[in-house]
Amino acid sequence: MNAEIIAVGSELLLGQIVNTNARFLSQQLADLGINVYYHTCVGDNPVRLKSAIEIAESRSDLLIFTGGLGPTKDDLTKETIAKHVNRQLIMNIEALQSIELYFERTKRLMTENNKKQAIVLDDSQILPNEHGMAPGMLFNTEEHMYMLLPGPPKEMEPMFLKYGYPALQSLLQEEDIIVSRVLRFFGIGEAMLETEIEDLIDAQSNPTIAPLASDGEVTLRLTAKHKQMDTALSLLDETEKKILTRVGHYFYGYDDTSLMHELIKLIKENKWSIACAESLTGGMFQQEFTAVPGAGELLKGGVVCYTNEVKAMVLNVRKETIAEKGVVSAQCASELAENVAHLMNADIGISFTGVAGPDELEGKPVGTVYIGISIKGKPVQVEKLNFGGTREAIRVRSVKYGCHFLIK
Ligand code: ATP
Ligand code: MG
Repeated sequence: MNAEIIAVGSELLLGQIVNTNARFLSQQLADLGINVYYHTCVGDNPVRLKSAIEIAESRSDLLIFTGGLGPTKDDLTKETIAKHVNRQLIMNIEALQSIELYFERTKRLMTENNKKQAIVLDDSQILPNEHGMAPGMLFNTEEHMYMLLPGPPKEMEPMFLKYGYPALQSLLQEEDIIVSRVLRFFGIGEAMLETEIEDLIDAQSNPTIAPLASDGEVTLRLTAKHKQMDTALSLLDETEKKILTRVGHYFYGYDDTSLMHELIKLIKENKWSIACAESLTGGMFQQEFTAVPGAGELLKGGVVCYTNEVKAMVLNVRKETIAEKGVVSAQCASELAENVAHLMNADIGISFTGVAGPDELEGKPVGTVYIGISIKGKPVQVEKLNFGGTREAIRVRSVKYGCHFLIK
């Protein structure tokens, strides 16, 4: 929970008084473990006060107001807040009696506008004022909590200590811990994934399940709430298990990992090395690979074999393959992967060949991609893909699929 202290009063802005309330409350909130992110100071003006409330709501959970609870015309804090949160102002009998008592005790004449101080926001917890008249208030909406305190420090401070502090303390104890976890999937579309777990999404409440698709990947964010961390985590575990029994085949990692990160982890764990032959992707796979710190030593090297000449001369793709099958072919991808691994003495060879567009090649449509994978001691494997989308999207997807096939 984070808080914002909003001091209301034109005299603060005129420099006539110092905002000691903000200092006092900040110290108290720090003691409670509530982070104060902002101090706001606003004059006795309903328009500017309303805008201060809106700004505070956009960035803070708990809004604490001081000042403007008094009986005079310029005291408009509770009126402005009531209107803003759409709550009625009602007369609080206990507060009224305590004001009458206060006047009796101090032998002063009570005026009609003093009664105004016993008016409070409907459905709020009253914080009695034992050193003055205007009671404080505490209430919450679905998203925020509001505390209204009087301006005079000699009223506000004891009120906060006796009633405000314990109220916040008990709220903090009730507050749920929120934990979330992102499950990342590749090789399955958003629609298909959602269909597979439709009933789980429909029945969700704790944890909630939020799907998101971008760049050919789908993620599910699970968010659980509970007072106890252990329970919140096991709620996440349970739901994760249910989801992965259905679509675990496409799952590759948690939170902010990426396919490339997972691939590099795998290569590291197995103490492998890798080499690449990149036609279609023009070095993009190696660019991404080497962008991960410490990944460099796992990559032996690569060839950007864009022309047929380089495919044949540097990577020894057979003339017959190029002449009969073409460079956009399973046979070419296979030879590229195997030969680059051999050339660079690497455990893994990966190759990318295909048509990124805008024009078709060798009579093969834009989006045709072959990825060759050669792993030491295993027969070379080739995957054929057909992508839609732009040149850039085809290349980006190809790199992701390359990682995906190596991880699987
Ligand atoms: P009252 O019933 O006395 O009018 P109020 O809740 O309406 O109280 P204000 O009218 O805003 O409060 O302020 C009353 C007085 O309280 C100010 O003149 C000032 O002395 C003191 N005060 C108000 N706000 C602060 C503040 N942020 N820091 C220190 N003192 C303050
Ligand atoms: Mg006042």
